[in-house]
Amino acid sequence: MSQFKHKISKSRFVSGIQCSKKLYFDLYRHDLKPPISNSLELLFASGNTIGMLARQVFPNGKDATPKSFYDFSDSILNTKQWIKDGVQTIYEASFFYEETLSALDILHKEGEEIWAIEVKSSTSVKDYHLIDASLQYWVMAQAGTPPDKFFLMYIDNNYIRKGEIKPKLLFKMSDITEEAKSKFDWVGVNLQKLKSIQKEPEPSIEIGKHCLSPFECEYMHHCWKHIPEKNSVFELTNARGKSWKLYQDNILHLSEIPDDFKLTNKQQIQVNGVKFNQSNIETEAIRNFLSVWTFPLYFFDFETIFPAIPILENTSPFQQIPFQYSLHILREPNGEIEHKEFLADPQHFDPNSNLDPRLELIQRMKNDLGDSGSIVAYNATFEMNILKGLSKSYPDHSKWLNSVIGRFVDLYIVFRNGWYYTPNMGSSASIKSVLPAIAPELSYKDLEISNGGDASNTFLAMIDRTFNGNKEASRNQLLEYCKRDTLGMVIIWQELYALSGF
Ligand code: SF4
Repeated sequence: MSQFKHKISKSRFVSGIQCSKKLYFDLYRHDLKPPISNSLELLFASGNTIGMLARQVFPNGKDATPKSFYDFSDSILNTKQWIKDGVQTIYEASFFYEETLSALDILHKEGEEIWAIEVKSSTSVKDYHLIDASLQYWVMAQAGTPPDKFFLMYIDNNYIRKGEIKPKLLFKMSDITEEAKSKFDWVGVNLQKLKSIQKEPEPSIEIGKHCLSPFECEYMHHCWKHIPEKNSVFELTNARGKSWKLYQDNILHLSEIPDDFKLTNKQQIQVNGVKFNQSNIETEAIRNFLSVWTFPLYFFDFETIFPAIPILENTSPFQQIPFQYSLHILREPNGEIEHKEFLADPQHFDPNSNLDPRLELIQRMKNDLGDSGSIVAYNATFEMNILKGLSKSYPDHSKWLNSVIGRFVDLYIVFRNGWYYTPNMGSSASIKSVLPAIAPELSYKDLEISNGGDASNTFLAMIDRTFNGNKEASRNQLLEYCKRDTLGMVIIWQELYALSGF
């Protein structure tokens, strides 16, 4: 067995600080760990790509990455030797002290100073970054190599891609040496506590706000088993602490909320729905709202990707890039429903293709959206912001794009304001809750791709060629998904229009 067998790593330390029971499960209850989801795998892959790009800011380093993440022995010994040899830059530099491992993204010698650099895929420094950096500082110091400076390296969202990615401009560095040093004793005390966790007995920790912060805990399926799956107090809309108050009073289901418990109007509508199967339909508010919409009605929805590392020229990290839209058109109240759609070719996102998929999308929109008539979206701010982005990037088309923005109306407002509520909508006013409540045959359950995240991940994988499914089938699934959203809006509008008595 390796002399460097570790019990605590930085991810386990962060787990243990969130909740010692979580660390206990990480260590001893592998049976409870949920399988890694596709989106988590894509997140890891994106993190690796970002890590590799960050290395280019400090190029030509020696790589101490272990062959297996279960055994860091060679990494620890190599790091020690290479520091002794005066190697300027070491990637995945590894340190060990009393059952605790620290694997640092980049260790760099700058003049006489030793710099520790941790790379993050985010666009700012978060509190939990300071926790894992403090642990790394502690291990490095105890192992005899305290860094002179500790930096977090993260993505600058003001970066704009011009030609090849320039890592020195893509990343920002923040000096957090003082914060890491100031937590030195705190790390030591907590490590002692966390290391003392033994296989038996399991820590007795109640569920609480810590289950959701800084990350949603992956063991909620186990610890939250006693919470009702449907209509629990944690589904109370805009609860702002009321859910925990009710839980502490041993009230778990919305139907158990006492009549004298103070609720907002929308919360009362939701609770009445659960208790008395009561709906809330405010016909006049809906009628007034719909009466200003003008025909033809264009029911419109974008799908987007938002890659951490910009793919297209003149775009920024995490910028929402539209790659698809669906459009249903209704020229008069009881007219035929027309459908139009656009789905970009992933190969046109190749920076060497000299093609511009966003320009293709604008041109198709110009053909499809006409010059007048309301454009109906569900949560229209999203679509409008994307169009504003396009308008900025393509000044030649900005006049037309701005006129399109001015035509948007938002179906979501009816449900967000509680003007139309039926008990089967639950706590959410999203189209994914509203549509199945109005038209159960149009739930999203029959679709292979059934949410925006999966659509985005699928298309991104097609762009970076990591996709290994059936391309034709997946293109059809993307088209079906986006079409469901806009057809759903038509059905919802028809329901509202009919009850408004126009
Ligand atoms: S679900 Fe909550 S109580 Fe259970 S391990 Fe996670 S954080 Fe701890």
